[in-house]
Amino acid sequence: MKAAVLYKANEPLQVVDVQQEGPRAGEARVKVKAAGICHSDWHIMNGDWPLPLPMVLGHEAAGIVDEVGAGVTNVKPGDHIIFSFRPHCGRCLYCSIGRTILCDGHSSPRWGLLDGSFRMRRNGEDLRQMARIGTFAESVVCPAEMLVPIRKDMPWPQAALMGCCVPTGVGAVMSCAKVEAGASMLVVGCGGVGLNVVQGGRLVGAEKIIAADLLDNKLAYAKEFGATHTLNASRENVVEEVRKLTGGRGVDYAFDAIGGEATTLQILDAVRPGGTAVIVGMAAMSVRAPITPYMMALQEKCIKGTMYGSVRPNIDFPRLVNLYMDGRLKIDELVSRTYPLDEINEGFEYLTSGQVARGVVVFN
Ligand SMILES: [Zn+2]
Ligand SMILES: [Zn+2]
Repeated sequence: MKAAVLYKANEPLQVVDVQQEGPRAGEARVKVKAAGICHSDWHIMNGDWPLPLPMVLGHEAAGIVDEVGAGVTNVKPGDHIIFSFRPHCGRCLYCSIGRTILCDGHSSPRWGLLDGSFRMRRNGEDLRQMARIGTFAESVVCPAEMLVPIRKDMPWPQAALMGCCVPTGVGAVMSCAKVEAGASMLVVGCGGVGLNVVQGGRLVGAEKIIAADLLDNKLAYAKEFGATHTLNASRENVVEEVRKLTGGRGVDYAFDAIGGEATTLQILDAVRPGGTAVIVGMAAMSVRAPITPYMMALQEKCIKGTMYGSVRPNIDFPRLVNLYMDGRLKIDELVSRTYPLDEINEGFEYLTSGQVARGVVVFN
């Protein structure tokens, strides 16, 4: 079977033949049907997140269960699934209180199986799997608890995006910030995640959805996804324009869908006193941002982070699928380009130049 392996940061992925061992107890093998190309993969490729290599990248995907190991009861061969890139032990504090994204029930490194071993090998060398899944591969063996079964009429590229950018963006609005109908919000960054923050705002009935980006083509996408106002941050001062659009006060909620020093400070400046700024995008590990504690206290501002949109995959993935099938979530429009696995490096070129909402690798 073929997989796209990162051997060294700042080098292209190598699409190569690898050996795969079948699922052991508690594991399943999935035939991957589609896998989205996300900035988090890029963070590993460019060295922003220095992780041990070689590693099969990819974490936003959907496929068909092929085989299950002993004791697996949540999925069976033939099930259509979306991969969750976070485990769900079901027993830890976080799983017990419904905050499953924060599950800390497993202590093994996050790029192998739960017992710390590996299922993929090439030339005698173990290959790690990003987020324990590594979905830029024709087939994935992973913990069965990371698979969420969905209805079978959901199309594959759209299902793949339910594994990262859709729940991250929509969940940031619905599950993390809990934006109420009639509220105003700012979204900084209109890539795969930011567009889903925008449509999350539309879904909950936000009154003003202001989208900011450096590229006009991204702002055109944002309009399609429900933005009521757009700002080109290369020409306009986002914070000043947001104030003008909100009677001088600032927005109720602001979301940073990029992740960086400048954008973190921008969302804090753009929210009104008592408002909430949410960090959604994943920054490089070394980024720091100087906030002003005096202003935080004086204006009772709140800043919080959200991982994976703070969703509960087992509950929220099937719900989001239903919303898409009912025509209430736009996902077709997100899938701007598809590629065979062999052309995955081209997919990353399109991602980094901002030419696509989302590129998706499709498998036969
Ligand atoms: Zn992602
Ligand atoms: Zn847990």
